[in-house]
Amino acid sequence: MTPAAYAVLNTEAVAHNVAVARRHAPTAKLMAVIKANGYGHGLLRIADALAGVDAFAVARGDEGIRLRNAGFTQPITVLEGFRNGEDLDAFLQQRLDTVVHSFQQLEILETRVETEQLGVWLKIDTGMNRLGFRPADVAGVYQRLRQCRIIAGPIRFMTHLANADDKADPKTPEQIALFNATLEGYAGERSIANSAGVLGWQEALADWVRPGVMLYGISPFPELTRRELGLQPVMGLYSQLIAVKPVRQGETVGYSGTWRCPEATLLGVVAVGYGDGYPRYAKTGTPVLVNGRRVPLIGRVSMDMITVDLASQPDAKPGDPVALWNEALPVEEIAHCADTIPYTLVCGITQRVQIIER
Ligand code: PLP
Repeated sequence: MTPAAYAVLNTEAVAHNVAVARRHAPTAKLMAVIKANGYGHGLLRIADALAGVDAFAVARGDEGIRLRNAGFTQPITVLEGFRNGEDLDAFLQQRLDTVVHSFQQLEILETRVETEQLGVWLKIDTGMNRLGFRPADVAGVYQRLRQCRIIAGPIRFMTHLANADDKADPKTPEQIALFNATLEGYAGERSIANSAGVLGWQEALADWVRPGVMLYGISPFPELTRRELGLQPVMGLYSQLIAVKPVRQGETVGYSGTWRCPEATLLGVVAVGYGDGYPRYAKTGTPVLVNGRRVPLIGRVSMDMITVDLASQPDAKPGDPVALWNEALPVEEIAHCADTIPYTLVCGITQRVQIIER
């Protein structure tokens, strides 16, 4: 049976986007961020497409273990780090590098007598106020980590930028300056830049970059399109019309009747909804491609269906192809119409959506 809603992945675009990242950061090593199931694209598939990068980063230990079980031997950093001793055992067994961001983690490391097995990134909180040690604590934490027998090799340093998608925001240079000032005199490798850092902040490049969203061909900047950045989209989301029907002036469409027909028109029903990951809060007017041409979404998004105004396509019929986002209809634009960010759309594709590799 052909699927109603399906995603087509252009994995060659991943390699293209890696090349863009490398052009921006020619001397840095590249740690590809593939957490959350490869930003919804499929962890193993994306890891395959990224085989040439220097390392992978995932959020959680179990994502790293999935990669190891599938045979990936590249270095893997777990950005949230280990949470307890049991996690730490798994990290050691699976050779997962950990981020150390808390005194609780530090105390666990200090109890271990194993020698030189664990790769460590010391995370510094330079203003995100999420994970990381405050700059004033770094010297003490570093000294204690140096004493931990379990740590292999030099300790590396990382911070995360909170506002790098806004080129006018002074917070990014402040974070970078604080990171560098905190680490004056330390020798370990450093990492600052996410995608926005790679593409927009030369001074954030350091020894390792950690791009995520740009690898999937998505612009991290609200003001810059992926085309302007030279990125190629990886995911397209598709479906088809399953009903076409005339509606009269004054009739309402969908749940709560939020859309009332200002005049008689032709309505198209598309087999995609929030149960597939299409955004529930996409507004009336959000563009949808029917037969490759834009038509507006009307009314509420339901679990399995959306409705579109086919006034401009009187010959449209059930079975006609629909694209919800693809090369011609940027996911960034759909995210904007739904008051969200494109990350949430690609991450939110549900299991019901069949993924097809091109
Ligand atoms: N580094 C860290 C610590 C992250 O949490 C993330 C993602 O949120 C990234 C890098 C990659 O960010 P982006 O997808 O914006 O490139």
